[in-house]
Amino acid sequence: MKIGFIKEANDTRVSLTPEVAKKFKKSGHDLFLESGAGDLSNFKNSDYKEYVKVVSYSDLLKNSELLISINPIELNKINSNFSKKIYLSNFNSVNKDNYLLVLEKNNIYSFDLGIIPRTTIAQSMDILSSQANLSGYKAVIKAAELLPRMFPMIITAAGSIKPAKVVVLGAGVAGLQAIATAKRLGAIVEASDPRSAAREEVLSLGARFIEVEGAVEDSSAGGYAVKQTKEYLERQKKEVSKKLELADVVISTAQVLGGKSPILIPKTVVDKMKPGSVIIDLASASGGNCEMTQDGKMIIYNDIKIVGNSYLSAELSQDSSNLFSNNVYNFLEYIINDNKIVDNYEDEIFSQCYITKKIKFS
Ligand code: NAD
Repeated sequence: MKIGFIKEANDTRVSLTPEVAKKFKKSGHDLFLESGAGDLSNFKNSDYKEYVKVVSYSDLLKNSELLISINPIELNKINSNFSKKIYLSNFNSVNKDNYLLVLEKNNIYSFDLGIIPRTTIAQSMDILSSQANLSGYKAVIKAAELLPRMFPMIITAAGSIKPAKVVVLGAGVAGLQAIATAKRLGAIVEASDPRSAAREEVLSLGARFIEVEGAVEDSSAGGYAVKQTKEYLERQKKEVSKKLELADVVISTAQVLGGKSPILIPKTVVDKMKPGSVIIDLASASGGNCEMTQDGKMIIYNDIKIVGNSYLSAELSQDSSNLFSNNVYNFLEYIINDNKIVDNYEDEIFSQCYITKKIKFS
C-alpha cells in the first residue's frame, strides 16, 4: 500500500523510524514521509532515503492511500483532500465525538490506535502500553534529577546516606516500570493498586504492596481497573497518606478507563509531605492523582515539586518513536492482506479500532 507518515505539529516523536521503515519496505509497501518529520527524534531525512520518499505535506496527501500520525491532525486541516483515504491515529487526546463527525463527513476510514483491545494477540500493537512503559521509566529519572537526595543507600567515611523512599500509585504498565527503575536505582519502593493481579507483580519486583481491603474488580473490564467505591478510596487514602508523609518521591499513574483519575493525594496530604520531595503525576491529562497537579506544568508548593505530565515518553523521542512505529507496523501487518485492509467486522481488533462505523470499506 501507499502509506504516508505526517509530521507531528507539537510532539518530538515521529510515527515512522528508519529501522521500522526497512521492515515496511520489506513487506512491499511504498512509503512517504513528510519532510523533517523525524528531525526532533534525531532521524534526519537522509536516514530514511533507502526506504522512503521524503515529500512535502501536499505531496504526502496526494500520494498516500493510508495516512498515519501519532496525534490527530488539527480538525480544521481535515478536508476533502483526505476523502476515501484511511487514517490511523491516537484519538484519545481530542474531543472524539466532534472529530468523528468530521472524519465520517469527509469519508475518511479511520482507526483509533488508542483503543486496541488488551488481548495477547494485540499486545504488540498497543501504543498505550509501549508509551506508558517509557513514561514510567522517565518519571523516575526526572524525579531523581529533581530530588535533592540520592536514591541508593551509601556508606562513606563522611557518613551514611539513607535510601530514598518512593511510593508508586497505580501499578499498571507505567507504574511497574517506575517500580523496576526506582528499585534499580536503589530506592525503597511501595505501591498501591486495587487490582489483585497488580499485587503479585509489585511483590515480584521486590517492592512492598500497600494493602487496602475491599477493592472492586471486574474481569470483564479487559485488564483495566474499574471505579472504586467511596469507602475503598477513603480507606486507601488513609493507608497511602501514611506512606506519603514519609516519601521522598511519589510517582502516580492511577487511571480508570474512560473516567477522571481518582484523587489519591489531596492537598491536606501534600501539606504533610517532606520539603524537597517530588511528585510526578503521570495521570495529569485525565485530571491527575494529586489535587494540586497542573497538567503540563511543574509547580512548587511548600518546597515540594509537583510535575503534571502524561506524555513523558515523548522526552525519550528515539525509543518512543521506535516503539510507536513498531506498534503501527504490527497493526498494519495484521489488518492488511494483499495490499488491502481486510475489513473483517467480526474481528475484535478491527471492530474495536475502526471508529468511522457509518462508512463501510468498499
Ligand atoms: P491504566 O493506565 O488504565 O491505569 C494505571 C493503573 O492505575 C492500573 O494498574 C490501575 O489498576 C491503577 N488504578 C486505578 N485506580 C486506582 C486507585 N484508586 N489506586 C491505585 N491505582 C489505581 O492501566 P495500564 O497501566 O494501561 O494497564 C493495567 C493492566 O492492564 C496492566 O498491568 C496489564 O496487566 C493489563 N494490560 C494488558 C495488555 C494486553 O494484554 N494487551 C495491554 C495493556 C495492559
